[in-house]
Amino acid sequence: MDVTPILDNLNDAQRQAVTAPAEPALVIAGAGSGKTRVLVHRAAWLIDVEGVSPHGLLAVTFTNKAAAEMRGRIETLLNVPVQHLWIGTFHGLAHRMLRRHWREAGLPQNFQIIDADDQLRLLKRLLKNLEMDDSRWVPKEIQWFINAQKDEGLRPQHIDDEGDADRRQMISLYQSYEEICQRGGLVDFAELLLRAHEVLRDNAELLAHYRRRFEHLLVDEFQDTNAIQYAWLRLLAGSDGIPFVVGDDDQSIYRWRGARVEHIHRFQKDFPGTLVIKLEQNYRSTSTILNAANAVIANNNSRLGKNLWTDGVQGEPIKVYSAYNERDEADFVIGRLRDWIAQGNARADAAVLYRSNAQSRVLEEGLINARIPYRVYGGLRFFERAEIKDALAYLRLLSNRDDDSSFERVVNKPTRGIGARTVEMVRAYARANACSLWRAAGAIASNDLNGRAANAVVAFMTLIERMDRETRGLDLQDQVDHVIHMSGLIDFFKKDKGEKGETRVENLLELVSAAKSFEPDAAEEMSKLDEFLSHAALEAGEGQADAWEDCVQLMTMHSAKGLEFPMVFMCGMEDGLFPHQRSIADPSGLEEERRLCYVGITRAKQTLYVTHAEQRRLHGMDNFSQPSRFIAEIPEEYVEEIRPRVQVTRPMRSQRSPQRQRSSVAPGSEIGIRLGQRVRHKKFGDGVILNCEGQGAHARVEVNFESTGTKWLVLTYANLETVS
Ligand code: ATP
Ligand code: MG
Repeated sequence: MDVTPILDNLNDAQRQAVTAPAEPALVIAGAGSGKTRVLVHRAAWLIDVEGVSPHGLLAVTFTNKAAAEMRGRIETLLNVPVQHLWIGTFHGLAHRMLRRHWREAGLPQNFQIIDADDQLRLLKRLLKNLEMDDSRWVPKEIQWFINAQKDEGLRPQHIDDEGDADRRQMISLYQSYEEICQRGGLVDFAELLLRAHEVLRDNAELLAHYRRRFEHLLVDEFQDTNAIQYAWLRLLAGSDGIPFVVGDDDQSIYRWRGARVEHIHRFQKDFPGTLVIKLEQNYRSTSTILNAANAVIANNNSRLGKNLWTDGVQGEPIKVYSAYNERDEADFVIGRLRDWIAQGNARADAAVLYRSNAQSRVLEEGLINARIPYRVYGGLRFFERAEIKDALAYLRLLSNRDDDSSFERVVNKPTRGIGARTVEMVRAYARANACSLWRAAGAIASNDLNGRAANAVVAFMTLIERMDRETRGLDLQDQVDHVIHMSGLIDFFKKDKGEKGETRVENLLELVSAAKSFEPDAAEEMSKLDEFLSHAALEAGEGQADAWEDCVQLMTMHSAKGLEFPMVFMCGMEDGLFPHQRSIADPSGLEEERRLCYVGITRAKQTLYVTHAEQRRLHGMDNFSQPSRFIAEIPEEYVEEIRPRVQVTRPMRSQRSPQRQRSSVAPGSEIGIRLGQRVRHKKFGDGVILNCEGQGAHARVEVNFESTGTKWLVLTYANLETVS
């Protein structure tokens, strides 16, 4: 048998790992040392050489993208179809298990996944129902509490209130939340993992079946598994399973979400005789980038300690740019991107990383103005866009009338005369009778509501029933197409003139394309629609509408884990933003931020830019900050400081309202008017300057307004205010 394709291009340590005997193994190694490569080749080795059936293998990746990549690589290495292999994220695999065994898991067959947003809305409604003050019982905190408990594997009855009344209340809210979810057949992300664990734990036959089936368990990014994920793995492995896990303690960045790097030690105790393999050669980055990353992470105390080296080229220095403000920073990034593209490089080979999601807006505006296609990975999520969620809510109602969060979302969208009072009455009835909103609506429409309100509710319910009848049996894409039209959503957004409405209509139509290209898993028993809805819920956060287009990649440092790019920008490197304010005073928090910085730096293969701004407006506040301490941790010899070449417009202060930093633009004068400047118009609202022409009384500007789209205005009459 020719195993060249599997073993070629591996170094000795990697080969040792790939061909290791069938025993538990832990590969622990730094960034870019080929851990993911080893995992993929291990899978191929097991199938091809050890004769393991592809179905006897379970592989956990950190993102859906990585799962797809692994499937692709196994497919090319082995030339076998891999569609039905159990390769996916923990959430994806847990979901698959629950779909197969919904009965044993105590779920309805058509259970729906709710995302963080739906979850929050549900909690808000719960608080309202209970007439609890949401300033004292903050929905986000309750959400946090519930998810943290689930991540630890705890149900309400397992949690000790520690004699604390507030905690008791939280537990009771968790209990009520759970009841609502159970009634509506709703499953949140943390619940997926928890249920998947419980269904195995409580069903001996099922557990035995899966233990027999999955002899080999492969796990990437093992350092970021949380308690319930680890428990699930252990359960599946039992005493005969052979886990093969790869990870890097220096890249553990999800402690705040329950991940426990301690699992690396625990693993060696739980699986005695574990073979530990270290990989030390980095193949990704230039020596400059790697040395810089090593120097930064060396400031952390709690490390296993590794020696990562490369025989790659020294490469260019890391370029540090100090911007005046976030706009200047964006201009700089965009200038460099332009050069990069002009040199014939692929846009997708450049990534712009930032610490906080909100930082993307300014960068996005700049990219739009510069007409550079970009994609926000894990941020602006196609399946999370409001209009898409509206359409999905209709589809979900077709599948399950008792889905309360969908009912609430679309009962009056587009507006159909069902006011807040009517909805409140529906809620009250549902509460009193412990039934779903749909049932409640049906019950009160015939008794308690006045004529007009009753008609509106009946019309809504009839519409849903009719859509269900008329779309049943259609192909998925036709079903989606009918629903976006019949629901009135398309007309509703068409009425919203301007770019936003147009984009929304385009997005809805894109959903039809998404449905068309959706390939269901033939092995699943559920309807194609249900499967599509689950796919939408799981993809949110990763899937993008236009993933195939060559475009610049924008993402948070967290979502960049495991990925690599020839050119990387790390933006917003300021104390307070990165490291984040909350973690500065807390040594372990600071270490986690430093690991995140290490992840960021090690994404770069050849070129790395680090930028920071003296002044930054974020979340509506102006901050003046020092450059991140992490920049100072990079030895000088690897750094080249770039000074701004031209004076950029500093934000102007108005005489009238200095704090708000707004000022009138004198007609015809140059001040404040530059491309990309944000302005405000009395009637059209906020927008961005796209173009300037002419002088004096003839000076005119093209503004892209958020609400109404692009307009040309004469400066003398426009009375624009600049907004910084
Ligand atoms: P991370 O910690 O960031 O997840 P990793 O350890 O998983 O990184 P990989 O992504 O598997 O590393 O590999 C990093 C890069 O090095 C990839 O481009 C990979 O193809 C390449 N690479 C890995 N091993 C070798 C090798 N033996 N020879 C040549 N290139 C290699
Ligand atoms: Mg990796």
